[in-house]
Amino acid sequence: MIVCFLNTIVHFNRQQQTGKEELMKLIHILAQIVFAVDTIAAIIAFMAITSFYGTAPQWKYFALALAFSRLPDLDMIPYLLLQKRFGLRSHWVIGHHPVAFILTVGGYIAVKGFPSGQSYLATLLIVIVMAHFVHDSVQPQGMYWLWPFKWSRLTLARGSPEHPTAEAIAAKKTRQDACGHCACDQIKDRFETISVGQFMFGVSVICIFLAWFHLTAAPST
Ligand SMILES: [Zn+2]
Repeated sequence: MIVCFLNTIVHFNRQQQTGKEELMKLIHILAQIVFAVDTIAAIIAFMAITSFYGTAPQWKYFALALAFSRLPDLDMIPYLLLQKRFGLRSHWVIGHHPVAFILTVGGYIAVKGFPSGQSYLATLLIVIVMAHFVHDSVQPQGMYWLWPFKWSRLTLARGSPEHPTAEAIAAKKTRQDACGHCACDQIKDRFETISVGQFMFGVSVICIFLAWFHLTAAPST
């Protein structure tokens, strides 16, 4: 994986891009991170859940909320480490299995009890991770929602749960095979192009968030 990262950096530096091209590329990547559906959903969920609990927002919990929005994508790590040995496919390893996630969190709470004083954080985790699952499920190839009970995919591409077509799954496999098997390619593959509408909506949400945070945060001592 490290060699892969180094190759990508060397390749990028060889491209002899002008300063303007590099700046535009950087702005584009930043926009894809800041205005991504998962990021904006996490900001909205953070405002709603924090308001529901009647607690003052704190930056450390907001940072955790943003981390939760990307938590399922950590399945990239076992994929990159084990893909050759087991012929794995990205996004299909662990992490994108909602029933397994619910059973893991529910099992922890059943054994350990609901974490005292941590229900706010637990709610942030569950809501934001589930929002990530719903967003990923909108793609035509869907996800293994019912694993470990059922090894079949469900997609929400047409608004209601249904099995994806063989063509949709084959198209995703083809796209993944065309994508390189190194960390940079995998990260790029998980970014989506930001539409103008998405950009405008994201800017509005961030402005509302900043005003809300400023008005409701506890005064610093
Ligand atoms: Zn994902």
